Amino acid sequence: MKHSLKLSAALAVAAASLGAQTQAFAQDKVLNLYSARHYQTDEVMYDTFTKTTGIKINRVDADDAGIIARLRAEGAASPADVIMLVDAARLATADTQGLFQPIKSAKLDAAIPANLRAHATADGVTWTGFSTRARVIVYDPARVKAEDVATYEQLANPKLKGMVCTRSGSHPYNLSLFSTVVERLGDQKGEAWLKGVVDNMARAPKGGDTDQIKGVASGECGVALTNTYYIARLVKSDKAEDKAVMSKVKVMFPNQGTSGTHVNIAGAGVAKHAKNRDNAIAFMEFLSSPYAQDYFANGNNEFPTVKGLKIDNPAIKAIGGDSFKAETVPLGVVAKNMTKVQQMLDRVGYK
Ligand code: FE
Repeated sequence: MKHSLKLSAALAVAAASLGAQTQAFAQDKVLNLYSARHYQTDEVMYDTFTKTTGIKINRVDADDAGIIARLRAEGAASPADVIMLVDAARLATADTQGLFQPIKSAKLDAAIPANLRAHATADGVTWTGFSTRARVIVYDPARVKAEDVATYEQLANPKLKGMVCTRSGSHPYNLSLFSTVVERLGDQKGEAWLKGVVDNMARAPKGGDTDQIKGVASGECGVALTNTYYIARLVKSDKAEDKAVMSKVKVMFPNQGTSGTHVNIAGAGVAKHAKNRDNAIAFMEFLSSPYAQDYFANGNNEFPTVKGLKIDNPAIKAIGGDSFKAETVPLGVVAKNMTKVQQMLDRVGYK
């Protein structure tokens, strides 16, 4: 009896403290952020958000696939308020799986171009891009003329036989690019283009974007695809080997005379089961402030998405990225075409 009294007293204390805790949490201004971005520059910006709003950020860091898997496992019990992912293909995947909820924000509507956000419905917009990166061509000027790599379409030109290098065709960076090319060319020509690229390969796809740049520098590849921030990192590097790589390659922003260079995004959306919805929207709006854009975009050698903001980054300037014509195909088409493009890749043998 004594024992059980003691036990129930202990339970009561535990319950009381749990109650107090729950209350404290409910009163606390918090934001649970699931992020696939891990840059120190982002952290400084998050601290500023907390200082100015009083909203504490609890972060769950994982890679994009890990975050999506975790959200699916947690379901309606998920504490996530904001989900931050890299690449439109991944944002589209999360969207298709119902992991976001639409929001309405006049601030975001005014700040971010519609083609860099999810397709707007009557309920609002699910995800928003907060930085862009361009997917460009790197080539060996000793083997390839600039005029032969002026467009993505030319990557399928037999002139480049045995020269093209890319990472896996199924990687989101490529899936997103290919989805917009297919949107532009149509299904038949789009698939023929993919087949042409495969026929021109110097080797089976492998490695990351930086490996493709190094492949061009080493002579294994004549032409490769990469996101701009990987080049900017090499430009900024103090290492002799990185300087040697950059001395051997040239950068082409493709399709300047036509559709513009493909750009992709890092972006975020409010989680479907967000408990702190207002804080989540406040955070999304904060990301569109010039201050946050400078950290979010410039910090990783990317471009701001907010209209009228210009990048001031010497490494980007050095590769001609300070002013170029960007593709304006809405990134929502990535969601629409992704599965179709993956099937095309399988048919043409693009690993
Ligand atoms: Fe990357």
